Amino acid sequence: ASTPFDFDLLVLGSGPGGYSAAFRAADLGLKVVLVERYAELGGVCLNVGCIPSKALLHVAAVLEEASHLGALGVEFGPPTLDLGKLRTHKTKVIGKLTGGLAAMAKMRKVTVLRGYGAFVGPHQVQVEATHGSGQEQTGSKQIVSFKACIIAVGSQAVRLPFMPDDPRVVDSTGALALPGVPKNMLIIGGGIIGLEMGTVYSALGARLDVVEMQDGLMPGADRDLVKVWEKMNKGRFDRILLKTKTVAATATAEGIRVQFEGLDGSTSEGRYDLVLQAVGRTPNGHKIAAEQAGVAVSERGFIGVDAQMRSNVPHIFAIGDVVGQPMLAHKAVHEAHVAAEVVAGELLGRPELAAAAFDARVIPSVAYTDPELAWVGLTEEQAKAQGIAVRKGLFPWSASGRALANGCEQGFTKLLFDDRPEAGGHGRILGGGIVGRHAGDLIGEVALAIEMGADAVDIGKTIHPHPTLGESIGLAAEAAHGSCTDLP
Ligand code: FAD
Repeated sequence: ASTPFDFDLLVLGSGPGGYSAAFRAADLGLKVVLVERYAELGGVCLNVGCIPSKALLHVAAVLEEASHLGALGVEFGPPTLDLGKLRTHKTKVIGKLTGGLAAMAKMRKVTVLRGYGAFVGPHQVQVEATHGSGQEQTGSKQIVSFKACIIAVGSQAVRLPFMPDDPRVVDSTGALALPGVPKNMLIIGGGIIGLEMGTVYSALGARLDVVEMQDGLMPGADRDLVKVWEKMNKGRFDRILLKTKTVAATATAEGIRVQFEGLDGSTSEGRYDLVLQAVGRTPNGHKIAAEQAGVAVSERGFIGVDAQMRSNVPHIFAIGDVVGQPMLAHKAVHEAHVAAEVVAGELLGRPELAAAAFDARVIPSVAYTDPELAWVGLTEEQAKAQGIAVRKGLFPWSASGRALANGCEQGFTKLLFDDRPEAGGHGRILGGGIVGRHAGDLIGEVALAIEMGADAVDIGKTIHPHPTLGESIGLAAEAAHGSCTDLP
């Protein structure tokens, strides 16, 4: 067909959002180009995020578990570390996945252009070729035109302006490179990313301090579960500084000296061999000349979209970290499928696809620490703030045969059901959280229950296999509707 455009769809950025959008659109029959500045596809998640962090956390979990086996009569010698081999393991896992993506793109006939993309008009992006492992621009430019575009340019780590430029000060990417094992490490920011990296370094032998502005670690998670997590992790930390700001830092021969200021005005300091800045991520919306296409970008760099992931310009969509919180890979993938279907539906005249919309009730969050902490839907604090009366279903894992057998009986499962009068005693599940081994794998069931509008009887009467950690979800639901169980 004669078309003035090079492609039906240009996808800018190849993270979980970008590659998912490109693949779905190609599967639906569109001619797609995927633009990525880095040599490898996969974005932050595959290259410097979800996957490498989990490759290292796996090792941390095994080390931790082995260290407890002495009490069960199995002794190992002290572990010896070969950081080179550990790095190779991580690199191999990444390589398999990014290589797989390149093969899938080829199979689907998605054109992959390596280069830095920026808008030069509403239907044109200029791609400046990049080379090397970084993103050095080569000066060779080409203009690519498209009918529709999906922006999936992600986010990058925030840097504190006063931090010295020193190899001992890193962000999550620097920490994942595993430059060595420090004696003392400071984690600035007690959220998921900081505490995951802390878990890795502590398992390898580092002592940790963590500083957090909020009044608790893991902001956003249910406080009952965080309490259990903190109790189990106490041994890793020399200091947990809450309601405290990091205000200054200097590089010295003995380490990085860091000054703290409590919200109550108190001051303190510390000296560290490694400082990890994990204070959040900022969207890349201001780096693509979006104004050339008329796309509105907020001051902070987010691109506003509607439920179909459409920006203020009707043929330009945006997905993933660049559209807002939570900045999570599984959210990006779901948004990607919506955007790709809407574009394909409109270009191919298929109204059933064009009607796609992002309609998730909940998006689960998981800290893959040791133990894992996972939550979805409302927390008790959020329900209270919204004036929603809840009925709680609590199940301590000390009553689970499987948890006892596995030596993880400190875990805890908590479910929340709607207890407002209009729910008539059969309120639907509103949220839930789990702290304990494999919590991240278990939380999917709670997310499904919320999506399906299950109540405590639905979940409690669903036969869970015995003996499993997943049983704790059924048992917590039973606790909420008041029946008792015979199963330990
Ligand atoms: P990104 O993955 O950021 O990809 C954007 C891509 O666009 C990049 O490849 C970038 O190079 C490219 N790009 C940007 N600008 C341009 C341009 N102008 N031209 C060409 N290319 C461009 N999430 C989870 O769900 N689970 C986890 O366990 C998890 N762990 C994490 C651990 C760490 C250490 C970090 C940092 C993040 C983690 N995340 C996790 C978050 C997750 O990585 C992100 O939410 C996800 O990668 C966002 O996907 P995205 O497609 O929006 O963007």
